[in-house]
Amino acid sequence: MLHKTYASERIKALPPYLFVEIDRIKKRLLKEGRDIIDLGIGDPDLATPDAVISELYSSARKPENHQYPLDLGLSVFRTRIAEWFKMRFNVELNSDTEIIPLLGSKEGIAHFPLAVIDPADLVLIPEPLYPPYRSGAIFSGAKIKYLPLNQENNFMPDLESLSRDVLKKTKLLYLNYPNNPTAQVADKQYLEKAVSMANEFGFIILYDAAYSELSYDGYVAPSILEIKGAREVAIEFHSFSKTFNMTGWRIGWACGNSDLIEYLRQVKSNIDSGVFNPIQYAAIKALDIYDKHIAEVKSIYRQRRDIFIGSLFRAGWNITPPKATFYIWAKIPSKLSSQEFCKLLLEKCFIIATPGLGFGPSGEGYVRFSLVKSIPRLEEAARRIAEVL
Ligand SMILES: *Cc1c(COP(=O)(O)O)cnc(C)c1O
Repeated sequence: MLHKTYASERIKALPPYLFVEIDRIKKRLLKEGRDIIDLGIGDPDLATPDAVISELYSSARKPENHQYPLDLGLSVFRTRIAEWFKMRFNVELNSDTEIIPLLGSKEGIAHFPLAVIDPADLVLIPEPLYPPYRSGAIFSGAKIKYLPLNQENNFMPDLESLSRDVLKKTKLLYLNYPNNPTAQVADKQYLEKAVSMANEFGFIILYDAAYSELSYDGYVAPSILEIKGAREVAIEFHSFSKTFNMTGWRIGWACGNSDLIEYLRQVKSNIDSGVFNPIQYAAIKALDIYDKHIAEVKSIYRQRRDIFIGSLFRAGWNITPPKATFYIWAKIPSKLSSQEFCKLLLEKCFIIATPGLGFGPSGEGYVRFSLVKSIPRLEEAARRIAEVL
């Protein structure tokens, strides 16, 4: 066994894992054969569209697709992304300089700080957070300032409350809307303010748009690249994972400022060797069937949301329906901490949910449910929760 102290300082700087006890209870309940409903992880239960799978089959049969991909990916893939982007956001991207495919957006998000951050550079990360923001920043040696997201600031970091001194020192700001875990959405006015401050103070915005396509009730999420001045300061991350139920396929892309894309390409070309070509062809197919596919998926999540929230409401737990994502970010209706509440849900209801604290200190007092189970299972989950409320 390796000696413990062989771990690098950057590994030691990672935050401790908080869910040891919950994992232990879960293992015991599984062993006991309990009927567990897992609403913990943000991983769609729905299948990847058939057309996408068929395209993978046929592309994988062609020997010319078996070799190393190019680091910038297939030109037809980047061109298709640019077309889709124009259709969806009315933003024109140069497919040779402003788009790069990723092995899932997590990879790109985690690697990006290596492309722009020197040790002790200041980065601003809102929390509760998607953990790769923090770990990618830690690996790059950045100094991190966390920006709390809470009810008072409507789950949008209050950038204007930051001192000029902090803003001048800032090199990178992370934003993620529609947001995981809070399910909050940002309007264009907020993004305009952020872009204008980035231009004024000279920092970069990493915009995570993983949930841009999963929105309801007429809400349509903008790209930050729709905002004037964003092309000078922003890099935006997109994913096929949630939009097309392709979490296991590992494909996404980054787009935006061409220098930032080039720096990220240099990091990646020294670490990975690109996305398997048949997966790129399959992703092209996904964009081809986007319209029909996304309407179906949105309708499924909207119904799940309404049924789950409706059942909890009748049980006395009033939660505002989110306009986007498949998450329910709910204030815990008791004095229990988020870890205690999730332990109760697990032991008494056999339901797995994520304690808000797991996403950062400002998540305390909240629990996140992922709507990644069928309507009958969500009804069953709400029925069990009603009994312990
Ligand atoms: C799921 C998710 C992603 C996308 O991850 P992939 O690596 O593309 O599967 C990115 N950001 C957030 C906030 C997510 O929840």
